[in-house]
Amino acid sequence: MRPINDVDVMNKEINIQEKTAVIIIGGGPIGLELSVALTRQGMANVVFEAAQVGDAFMRWPPYTHFFSTPEHVAIAGVPLHNLSQQGITGEEYLAYLRTVVELFDIDVRVYEPVTAVEKQPDGSFWVRTEKKGQTAVYQAQYVIFANGGMAAPRWLGIPGEELPHVTHYFPGPHPYFRTKLLIVGGKNSAAEAALRCWRGGAQVSLSYRRPWFDPDRIKPHMRDDLKDRIEREEILYYPATIPVEITPTHVVLASTEDGVSPNGHTTKVEADFVLLATGFVADMSLLARTGVQLENREYCSDAPVHNPETMETNVAGVFVAGTAVGGTQHRTRHFISTSHDDVIRIVRALTGQTPPQIGTIAARNNAVTWREVMAN
Ligand SMILES: Cc1cc2nc3c(=O)[nH]c(=O)nc-3n(C[C@H](O)[C@H](O)[C@H](O)COP(=O)(O)OP(=O)(O)OC[C@H]3O[C@@H](n4cnc5c(N)ncnc54)[C@H](O)[C@@H]3O)c2cc1C
Repeated sequence: MRPINDVDVMNKEINIQEKTAVIIIGGGPIGLELSVALTRQGMANVVFEAAQVGDAFMRWPPYTHFFSTPEHVAIAGVPLHNLSQQGITGEEYLAYLRTVVELFDIDVRVYEPVTAVEKQPDGSFWVRTEKKGQTAVYQAQYVIFANGGMAAPRWLGIPGEELPHVTHYFPGPHPYFRTKLLIVGGKNSAAEAALRCWRGGAQVSLSYRRPWFDPDRIKPHMRDDLKDRIEREEILYYPATIPVEITPTHVVLASTEDGVSPNGHTTKVEADFVLLATGFVADMSLLARTGVQLENREYCSDAPVHNPETMETNVAGVFVAGTAVGGTQHRTRHFISTSHDDVIRIVRALTGQTPPQIGTIAARNNAVTWREVMAN
């Protein structure tokens, strides 16, 4: 089949590469769970994944454990066991996702990002993808966005942020052994990096814009550990500070009363490396170009407008699931265990059937909707 190019698209001389009932955008855990659930109800579907299956977990630092316990991150009713019965690592989860793909032979097209979704007069969609420089066009009755909410780091926009010793992605403690590391942030990721790097032999300083950590935003097992390290001055804590400039040798921290604006007092902290654990932002541009309206909510911004009963957006036939539902989340409300319900709602809306195997095995299923169904 010859490749489709932009001129063809503009002239509507399209060779549709393939037709299917549902196209799912994103091969993360929720996109994969959707695919299995739809296939079980007899609905043909294809998953397009911009990178590799579980790309979000490929970016995790090595040996990083889930905060959620295994039954909360299991999908499609496939058991997820490990030796400790505690949080699994990102690497273990990638192996699990590969197993799920192979078990159900999910039709997932990896390294094939969706670049456009165009609604046709008959109500169907043309979905444009790019692979190795070639454009292809597929047709589907429905499109589900499960494209995640952590597309890029949240840049601070300060001088020096682009220097080579500064990163937004924690690579694990080893690079920082016997060096001075300044970490910026005050949630789980910053706490975990600070503790691991200190134990890994780095001299760690920690800057956070609030006077102290919100206990709801740091997991209990790290909370006491971090408090002890700070009280003993093993980790040097700079409360109520924000970085305003990074140089090859120092970070300039400005004091702040409101956590946002500097109050005129500054401190220079020596640093060989700087880790900005300041969160991630979603890329909702494809949804917006598809005509989906985005809104700000109290805990997030750029979140797609949708019907919470069906997960259908304001564009009829376009649905949203997983962390994409929250756009850029300032407080995390959408994670894997809350997203199983999205799968149930979408499968119900498309097939009229409630999928029987969602999340972990039925005997201890954590999907709220699923529990409601079983109770009635
Ligand atoms: C350090 C860390 C710890 C975490 N711990 C937990 C935890 O304990 N529990 C928990 O539930 N969550 C945790 N999370 C969050 C977790 O990563 C998300 O909850 C989870 O990945 C959401 O799954 P998803 O399928 O909705 O989206 P994602 O996993 O983000 O998948 C979206 C996929 O869509 C693909 N995509 C994007 N755009 C396109 C496009 N145009 N075309 C095709 N594909 C596209 C992406 O490549 C990606 O693979 C953690 C995150 C981090 C960074």
